[in-house]
Amino acid sequence: MEDLAEQLKFANKQLETAIAELLYEQQEKAKRAAELILANIELNFQNEEKEKRAAELILANTELLFQNREKEDRAKELIIANRELVFQYQEKQKRAEELVIANHELVFQYQEKQKRADELDIANRELIFQNQEKQKRADELAIANTELIFQNEEREKRIIADAKKDEFFNMVSHELKTPLTNIKAINQILQKSLNNTDRAYPFITRSNQSVLRLERLIEDLLDVTKINSGEIDLNVSEFFFTDILTQSIDTVQQISAQHKIVLENSVDVFYTGDQFRLERVIINLLNNAIKYSPDATQVKVSAFVKDGQITVCITDYGIGIAKEDINQLFKRFFRVSKIAKQFQGVGLGLYIAAEIVKKHNGTFSIDSEPGVGSSFCFHLPVN
Ligand code: ADP
Repeated sequence: MEDLAEQLKFANKQLETAIAELLYEQQEKAKRAAELILANIELNFQNEEKEKRAAELILANTELLFQNREKEDRAKELIIANRELVFQYQEKQKRAEELVIANHELVFQYQEKQKRADELDIANRELIFQNQEKQKRADELAIANTELIFQNEEREKRIIADAKKDEFFNMVSHELKTPLTNIKAINQILQKSLNNTDRAYPFITRSNQSVLRLERLIEDLLDVTKINSGEIDLNVSEFFFTDILTQSIDTVQQISAQHKIVLENSVDVFYTGDQFRLERVIINLLNNAIKYSPDATQVKVSAFVKDGQITVCITDYGIGIAKEDINQLFKRFFRVSKIAKQFQGVGLGLYIAAEIVKKHNGTFSIDSEPGVGSSFCFHLPVN
């Protein structure tokens, strides 16, 4: 029994413990339940808060979404704007490059213009210089013109004076011709009636020579007036050219004992021209050759045909002619002034000779050296 009591006691104790434990557990559960309720309330509150928060978040989210869309739109706009800006930038870049090129071009053009301006400046200076030169030239020309006007007036005066002179020569020559023909006729009668041993004979001969000279002078004067008035007419006929050479030489040789006129060769051709006048040309040249070589003893005549031209040259070994005078020889009344007084003459022979040769389409050439001699040549085309 005791064991049983003991066992009951023990079981009782255990029961008590178990009940205590249960109570404790119940208390604990109640606590826990209260805590849970509190926690639940707390959770509900939290949930409500969270829901509120969630609603707010949803709102905020919606707002954000809206903002995002807005931002996206903006971003798109910005992208477009950016593209536009990039495009504009590229365009500006291109424009800038174009401007740089244009600028280079402008700089180049400016330099070119500068060069051109410099060139124009130089050209301008040149033009100014040329203008000044032209002005000078114009002034000179004005002076020369005045001089020419003066010379023309002088020439006109001279032409009028020459015409008067020619008229006078013409008149005087004609007036002299008749008495001279009479003297010549009387001389010839006298000469025939005398013997060459008579004392008077040489006087008659000299008188004849003087008459001949006068006759020639009158012929010259008449020819000059005819040349000047353009009235000289050629008496054309065909003749043997050598004839005028030999006849002229004979005529001149008769009155010059000091000089031997040597004909070196002859021109054996027929020529058509004024025989009498061409003879006078040769006689004039021969007379000059003798007159202007007072210390010489010979005059040379050479004549030849070459290249379709007849050339006749009369060469003397006399005083010669200075270079500066040669071009003047064919002017009428020209005489070399230094020697004019020492030799008789009027300065018409060469003038007439040149005109006669010119009338036959010929030319003259002169070769001369002072103190050595002269060679007068005329050239006629063979016809
Ligand atoms: P003139 O003999 O009558 O003076 P010319 O007309 O025949 O006229 O000649 C002109 C000038 O040419 C002469 O005055 C003379 O000064 C020069 N003259 C002509 N022929 C010769 C010559 N053979 N030698 C040197 N001078 C000459």
